Amino acid sequence: MIKVTVDFDRCDANGTCAALMPDVFRIGDEGLLEQLTTEVDPGREAELEEVIVCCPVGAIARG
Ligand code: SF4
Repeated sequence: MIKVTVDFDRCDANGTCAALMPDVFRIGDEGLLEQLTTEVDPGREAELEEVIVCCPVGAIARG
Protein backbone atom coordinates (compact mmCIF):
# COMPACT_ATOMS: atom_id res chain seq x y z
CA MET A 1 0.00 0.00 0.00
CA ILE A 2 1.07 3.59 -0.59
CA LYS A 3 0.89 5.86 2.44
CA VAL A 4 -0.80 9.23 1.99
CA THR A 5 -0.28 12.19 4.27
CA VAL A 6 -1.97 15.58 4.41
CA ASP A 7 -0.49 18.70 5.95
CA PHE A 8 -3.66 20.02 7.53
CA ASP A 9 -1.93 23.29 8.47
CA ARG A 10 -1.49 24.06 4.76
CA CYS A 11 -4.84 22.71 3.51
CA ASP A 12 -7.39 25.41 2.74
CA ALA A 13 -10.21 22.88 2.21
CA ASN A 14 -10.91 23.84 -1.42
CA GLY A 15 -12.06 20.28 -2.12
CA THR A 16 -9.95 19.48 -5.17
CA CYS A 17 -8.67 16.22 -3.74
CA ALA A 18 -12.15 15.23 -2.59
CA ALA A 19 -13.45 15.69 -6.13
CA LEU A 20 -10.68 13.52 -7.58
CA MET A 21 -10.51 10.74 -4.94
CA PRO A 22 -13.75 10.88 -2.94
CA ASP A 23 -13.07 7.58 -1.19
CA VAL A 24 -9.85 9.00 0.27
CA PHE A 25 -10.71 12.65 0.93
CA ARG A 26 -13.92 14.46 1.69
CA ILE A 27 -15.02 17.87 2.85
CA GLY A 28 -16.96 17.41 6.07
CA ASP A 29 -20.08 19.17 7.27
CA GLU A 30 -17.98 21.84 8.92
CA GLY A 31 -16.17 22.63 5.69
CA LEU A 32 -12.91 21.03 6.71
CA LEU A 33 -11.02 18.30 4.92
CA GLU A 34 -11.32 14.78 6.28
CA GLN A 35 -8.90 12.06 5.25
CA LEU A 36 -10.84 8.81 5.07
CA THR A 37 -7.84 6.51 4.73
CA THR A 38 -4.07 6.85 5.06
CA GLU A 39 -3.23 4.20 2.47
CA VAL A 40 -4.12 3.59 -1.15
CA ASP A 41 -3.66 0.54 -3.33
CA PRO A 42 -0.45 0.58 -5.44
CA GLY A 43 -2.64 0.20 -8.53
CA ARG A 44 -3.90 3.73 -7.91
CA GLU A 45 -0.46 5.32 -7.96
CA ALA A 46 -1.15 7.45 -11.05
CA GLU A 47 -4.42 8.66 -9.55
CA LEU A 48 -2.66 9.62 -6.34
CA GLU A 49 0.11 11.43 -8.22
CA GLU A 50 -2.52 13.50 -10.02
CA VAL A 51 -4.11 14.49 -6.72
CA ILE A 52 -0.72 15.46 -5.29
CA VAL A 53 0.00 17.67 -8.31
CA CYS A 54 -3.51 19.17 -8.32
CA CYS A 55 -3.52 20.26 -4.67
CA PRO A 56 -2.95 24.01 -5.06
CA VAL A 57 -1.11 24.37 -1.77
CA GLY A 58 1.00 21.22 -1.98
CA ALA A 59 -0.53 19.73 1.15
CA ILE A 60 -0.69 16.10 -0.01
CA ALA A 61 2.33 13.83 -0.02
CA ARG A 62 3.26 10.17 -0.24
CA GLY A 63 4.73 8.38 2.72
S1 SF4 B 1 -6.61 19.69 -2.60
FE1 SF4 B 1 -5.12 20.27 -1.00
S2 SF4 B 1 -5.85 22.21 -0.20
FE2 SF4 B 1 -7.54 21.28 -1.35
S3 SF4 B 1 -8.74 20.17 0.19
FE3 SF4 B 1 -7.27 18.74 -0.68
S4 SF4 B 1 -5.45 18.82 0.67
FE4 SF4 B 1 -6.71 20.61 1.08
